[in-house]
Amino acid sequence: MVRGYDVLKHTNHAKGALVRQVIIIGSGPAGYTAAIYAARANLNPLVVASSVEAGGELMNTTDVENFPGFPEGIQGPDLMTKMQEQAERFGAEVLYDDVVDLDVAGPVKKITLGSGGTHEADSIVFATGSAPRKIGIDGEARLSGRGVSYCATCDGFFFREKVIAVVGGGDSAMEEATFLTKFASKVYIIHRRDELRASKIMQDRAFKNDKIEFVWNSAVVDIIGDDAVTGVVLESTVDGTRSELALDGVFVAIGNDPRTHLVHGKLDLTPEGTVWVDGRSSRTSLPGVFAAGDVIDPTYRQAVTAAGSGTVAALDVEHYLAALGEAGAPAPDVAEIDGLPGADEARAETAKVNAA
Ligand code: NAP
Repeated sequence: MVRGYDVLKHTNHAKGALVRQVIIIGSGPAGYTAAIYAARANLNPLVVASSVEAGGELMNTTDVENFPGFPEGIQGPDLMTKMQEQAERFGAEVLYDDVVDLDVAGPVKKITLGSGGTHEADSIVFATGSAPRKIGIDGEARLSGRGVSYCATCDGFFFREKVIAVVGGGDSAMEEATFLTKFASKVYIIHRRDELRASKIMQDRAFKNDKIEFVWNSAVVDIIGDDAVTGVVLESTVDGTRSELALDGVFVAIGNDPRTHLVHGKLDLTPEGTVWVDGRSSRTSLPGVFAAGDVIDPTYRQAVTAAGSGTVAALDVEHYLAALGEAGAPAPDVAEIDGLPGADEARAETAKVNAA
């Protein structure tokens, strides 16, 4: 243990509330890896895992074939369960709730939860990942859940023997289309160019699949249907001509955007919209606030790079807290979390929220 940690489990004098050493917001590979490292460093992290999307984007994935250590591949949800179990084994506390507000400007950081509770900590790891990008066209929002989907593994089952399309030309589109051929009678891949962005192996898999047909140089400009999807309007990106394609469903797989809405106006962002961090570190524009995973990464966005980024964040937190301890702050009221004023109440609140 780095010198100084024991004095950092303290109470907020004004309110008598427990101030944790670190709160991790997000439960994807970045959040859970940060939690594993922080827990092993005796920082007793609280992981706010989300009320409905715990586990992050990998919960919507089937085979993960490129995470080291699993030569036969592993299902995305199984991988996330293992990461969570590993973090909990070392003492991480996982809360199934959503952060709805953050007050991170001062030395003690405060989060407000959807359930109404609040928690405080000396440091925050912001690892909220990314959310599926929307095309932003007519019919998309109206028919979402009525034939428009952003998750093949969640909704593929509803399209048995149906004709559907996947929009996009990256790895996600190839993976979703290939997966969807297990259910659908036909899967179109609609891409706006005549060249895919996906990796060679994923492209080859899609090209070899008899149920997949590519629609090149086409933008989806409208999704049509009254109560359910009946088709899309396509516009040629070469000559602008329009045509209709009859479909029972549309899966949008055009990439992800970093989830930064909680920190707009609070943390600096990059021109790409990710949270700005200092060089290869996880240090954001505010002291004590660290960020990791897809929310800082406009380029690589892999489970394994997110996990590595979570490691960096936990190590940066350790150094930050150690420096705080060496500087003599905050007040060394009590040495252990158990028995701290506010600790029992905080744990009871976690149990109550998780049980709800
Ligand atoms: P991506 O690589 O950014 O690809 C997005 C695709 O959607 C691109 O082909 C892009 O077209 C298209 N697109 C973007 N905006 C569009 C719009 N408004 N309308 C129509 N098309 C649009 O995203 P991704 O496929 O989600 O992959 C993200 C990262 O995750 C990548 O690093 C990928 O390797 C990784 N990933 C890996 C696996 C795996 O290894 N099993 C699986 C899934 C994802 P353009 O090509 O014209 O830009």
